[in-house]
Amino acid sequence: MESNIMTLKEKLAYLESKSYSGNDLGVTYTKNETTFNVWSPLAEKVVVNLYETGDSKENSLIQSYPLIHENSVWTTSLTGDFENKFYTYTLTIDGKSNETIDIYAKAAGMNGNRAAIIDFNKTNPENWTEDSHVTQQQITDAFIWEVHIEDFSSDENSGISPENQGKYLAFTELGTTYKNEKDFATGVDHLKELGVNYVHLLPVFDFENDEESADYNWGYDPKNYNVPEGRYSSNPRDPSVRIREFKQMVQSLHAQDIGVVLDVVYNHTLETEDSSFNLTVPDYYYRQTDTGEFADGSACGNETASDRNMMRKYMADSILYWATEYHLDGFRFDLMGLHDVETMNVIRTALNENGLQQVILYGEPWDAGSNEIALPNIAANKGNTAHFMDGIAIFNDDFRDPVKGSVFNKTEGGFLQGQSGNGIRDVDVMAGISANTIGAAAAEYELAEKTWARNPTQVVTYNSAHDNLTLYDKLVESTFDKPYFHRNDWVIQINKLAAALLFTSQGVLFMQAGEEFGRTKFGDDNSFVSSIEINQLDWSLKKTNSDLVDYYCGLSTIRRKFSPLRDATAQTAKAITFSRDAIENLIAYTIPNQLAEEGDWNWMAVVLNSSYEPHEVTLESHTGDLPTHWTIIADKDHAGLEALGTVEGNTLTVEPHSALILVS
Ligand code: CA
Repeated sequence: MESNIMTLKEKLAYLESKSYSGNDLGVTYTKNETTFNVWSPLAEKVVVNLYETGDSKENSLIQSYPLIHENSVWTTSLTGDFENKFYTYTLTIDGKSNETIDIYAKAAGMNGNRAAIIDFNKTNPENWTEDSHVTQQQITDAFIWEVHIEDFSSDENSGISPENQGKYLAFTELGTTYKNEKDFATGVDHLKELGVNYVHLLPVFDFENDEESADYNWGYDPKNYNVPEGRYSSNPRDPSVRIREFKQMVQSLHAQDIGVVLDVVYNHTLETEDSSFNLTVPDYYYRQTDTGEFADGSACGNETASDRNMMRKYMADSILYWATEYHLDGFRFDLMGLHDVETMNVIRTALNENGLQQVILYGEPWDAGSNEIALPNIAANKGNTAHFMDGIAIFNDDFRDPVKGSVFNKTEGGFLQGQSGNGIRDVDVMAGISANTIGAAAAEYELAEKTWARNPTQVVTYNSAHDNLTLYDKLVESTFDKPYFHRNDWVIQINKLAAALLFTSQGVLFMQAGEEFGRTKFGDDNSFVSSIEINQLDWSLKKTNSDLVDYYCGLSTIRRKFSPLRDATAQTAKAITFSRDAIENLIAYTIPNQLAEEGDWNWMAVVLNSSYEPHEVTLESHTGDLPTHWTIIADKDHAGLEALGTVEGNTLTVEPHSALILVS
């Protein structure tokens, strides 16, 4: 078949007809034989080039071997032991030959231009076979902490050993403290203190970079989806080292009962025309516009085509691979709105069928401006939540924005800054507290368009993530025209209110690393290539803002103790009752415990006052009689299981810019 005389539409239809469903794409290594399989139905010729070394700058070709075309897959098996050799493919298509890395590469040399043939059994750390997934009973039990590998430990005062700072292995260190002072735990010990049960890592698959340079990058420049990034390993030149160290990181977090989530960025690749995907099967893996140009819904130069069979399969294969080979516990999909719903459901099903129902999936339910998803496929965005299978959650910007102001306007405030009434509506925050659940109490306030979730398992509830300003910076920018201070008492006070709101809301709890100690990037709202000094966690803030850290820890304990806050069903969301006599910038709600077990609190009440005055409010419930005696467990300054006072009756006064949490 001559592909250059076909129209694009004919070509794509032909390629779809040649889809391959086998699970043997890539390289299969044994001591006696290595097999190569590559899907490329329109290629005229494919050879595999074997190399002695992994750096593509080194001319170390051993020999090239032809592959033969069988059922749309090009294949060959070489007899002998090729362990620790490297390879590329040269594909000839429409008379043009191009050398490229295998898109199914699972190990690679430095900078990811040559795939490596390795024995994966040798990459397993000691006792790896005893390691297994760390998961929660339900996704609403998750407390997810989002961090970049280098941000976590690059601070020279982190107490983490210098050779592991900025590396995978920083997560294997225990007992670390700020400046080695015993009172301020850092690293993994800090996570234990906070009660985090999932660490969500910004991209750690192999992205395009110079792995031996000092340049900082978040990593949203995908290159090899199934290879760990070399930069975070102790030796990017040895393909096994990054794999072993990655597994050590996972194993160590698992030993502390912390699951590991990967941020996966299948929606685009850094390169387009010359990417490995496009050199392997031209025009197939990316969507086109009506005029035949590459579509760019990612605003990064292209958008991949999850709605085509082999891209959909690629994503499902890749997720299943990471979940099994690396024992990963969750995946966060970047710009999930560029994928189609069917693909997300296929991935969920693939995990479920492999006994991985507990592996969590969530994503950004938007694109970066457009998508060219082909009907009848539909985008995996917020508007299509109803079409998701159970077990796929989305980031809730309907919570994030009314709470603290739009992320697209630095100085805009929201409820927290006392700005309700000024285009900001308390009712939007109320809908968020109920995880925007259909039929929730908030619907009484005519919020039909703001109630789109079947239940809280579909909703990631958050105040801050790596994108946009940190919570601290947003509060500075939107309340004060002042330079940044490491300690801004006013902002810390509002931050406590933000935390009380977050931890008493329905949904999957998520936050950016350092939110709990007032992390600042000094107003940098897009620090993807900013310096490490801007990006890294400054562990001294844990000491400076220790009262804020204590407040978060206390709230985390309260959330663990009161299971209705983590209800996977819509039952609690529907039972939450908001006080109707509350004025603007004051939200009060009661949460009955319909899941009560012996010894549990039967009720929780939360009052959030973001106004500038103390206010009185009367609690209400539409599900039953409220108790008349309450114990305060969180106030303006403290949160935890300790009683801070009592309230008789259901009318109480709350101080400005503060929260009260009461239980009975
Ligand atoms: Ca890389």
